[in-house]
Amino acid sequence: MPSLERYNSCVLVKTDTQSFLFDAGECCSRLLLKAGIGPDELDAVIITHLHPDHFSGIFMLLQMWYLAKRQKPLSLYLPERESEFTQILQMMYIFPSRLGFELKLRPLETITADYPRLSFYKNDHLINYKPVITQNNLPNQLRSYSLKLSSAKGDFVYSSDLTTTDSIAPFLRGAHTVLLDAGHPPLHQIQKLQDYELKRILLTHEPKPEIREWLAKNSDNRYQIATDHTIYHI
Ligand SMILES: [Zn+2]
Repeated sequence: MPSLERYNSCVLVKTDTQSFLFDAGECCSRLLLKAGIGPDELDAVIITHLHPDHFSGIFMLLQMWYLAKRQKPLSLYLPERESEFTQILQMMYIFPSRLGFELKLRPLETITADYPRLSFYKNDHLINYKPVITQNNLPNQLRSYSLKLSSAKGDFVYSSDLTTTDSIAPFLRGAHTVLLDAGHPPLHQIQKLQDYELKRILLTHEPKPEIREWLAKNSDNRYQIATDHTIYHI
């Protein structure tokens, strides 16, 4: 739900040598400008699933980098139907041949081959759409992913949207920091992470009232509510 306080999903993830955007919800172009990120800085954009709050900003971002004369090739990883993406761009009069930089459309599942420090895990966020997709014989593939950046100092996991934290349990264990969707999973699923040997659990997506209530009483200071425009280090 659009809000005056919070932006849609868009997480800039930086290492010493590389920069990635995990999801590109609406307003991501403005957020990158605000963070002082120039047109040639990002190496790749990775979309975890095709809900608008994670995907809608990509079009304006490509338009911005065209106008700002980006030179560096851009890898755009999509969770499904990447071969159809060019048609959506053409509808918007965005023509890859005229962008001025090479746009490489890639299936998300090839990301580790291209960037060995990045890995992915399929989660259960979209499973409830299965009846409508099957009944109407639609081409949607129900793919939704969580992402991980590994580093010597510790691993960062971005859950993206989830129905349950159980669906990514093996992927979470032993990570340093997780940026966790606390808007969809129930409270008991959020509480389960206490046993996962995580150093920091950043809650995003407007935690539900019962989660906020529990946090206020809970003495486990690994849990924090994530705030926009904040830089977190590992
Ligand atoms: Zn979603």
